Amino acid sequence: MDERLDEPYCETPDTRPVPADSGPPYAECVLCRKPTEYPESVKGITLCPVCEWQEAQRTACSG
Ligand SMILES: [Zn+2]
Repeated sequence: MDERLDEPYCETPDTRPVPADSGPPYAECVLCRKPTEYPESVKGITLCPVCEWQEAQRTACSG
């Protein structure tokens, strides 16, 4: 199954970490320090769903 119903209008960098498919520990959100849906072992910036959404709004289609 290939679910792409929430595809953004603008092209976005494909740098998002892969979500965890099992339980905790989860990595901290780099913005609010809350647990994210990503494992601690993930590399790069991890954002909780809330901050991720806010970042998406901020970076999507500026102008
Ligand atoms: Zn956050």
